[in-house]
Amino acid sequence: MTKAEKLKQIAGRVAKCTRCDLYKRANKPVPGEGNPGAEVMFVGEGPGYHEDQQGLPFVGAAGKLLDKLLQLIEVERKEVFIGNVIKHRTENNRDPLPEEIEACRSFLDEQIQIIKPKIIVTLGRFSMNKFLPGEKISRIHGQARYVDFLGKRYIVVPMYHPAAALRNGRIMEEIKEDFQKIKVFLEENPEEEIMEKNREDKQLKLV
Ligand code: SF4
Repeated sequence: MTKAEKLKQIAGRVAKCTRCDLYKRANKPVPGEGNPGAEVMFVGEGPGYHEDQQGLPFVGAAGKLLDKLLQLIEVERKEVFIGNVIKHRTENNRDPLPEEIEACRSFLDEQIQIIKPKIIVTLGRFSMNKFLPGEKISRIHGQARYVDFLGKRYIVVPMYHPAAALRNGRIMEEIKEDFQKIKVFLEENPEEEIMEKNREDKQLKLV
């Protein structure tokens, strides 16, 4: 089975999923979309109104900003994969509950294991916490970390959610700067820089 077929199979299972109650009020499931062989995978939190209407990730105002940020670094949307921590919309876009995140976890885990991206960019704190629990986004946004996840080492780069950038001009400037680093992490070999950040984290935890 090809990667695309495997991802389609996951989307089929998401569409039938009843593991938590979110499917009951949602219009459409939003399993994620993009290049099955993507080097960069974006992970957001969950579908909003427009995503829920269309069944596609990041198609509302935050999605339009994501498109612009991708243009800034000359990456086309079809080159990357875009997914979410949860696959059905929460009522009034409330934060997902821990039990909903846990119920939905395996879908994203499987998508990551199939795509095996070089870089995972987390958008917002819920997706950051999946890989870097307990971290503060204000401290580590735009900085890469090595994260061993389900038997493979990934470069994880936490970023603010584009919706936060739309509400706050300072975050908008920071997210633009952070996006420029994706290109650096893709094109250069930043191993020593990332290892240094991992060491700093360990030291902070020991203090
Ligand atoms: S949010 Fe996830 S776990 Fe809950 S019903 Fe949808 S696909 Fe299933």
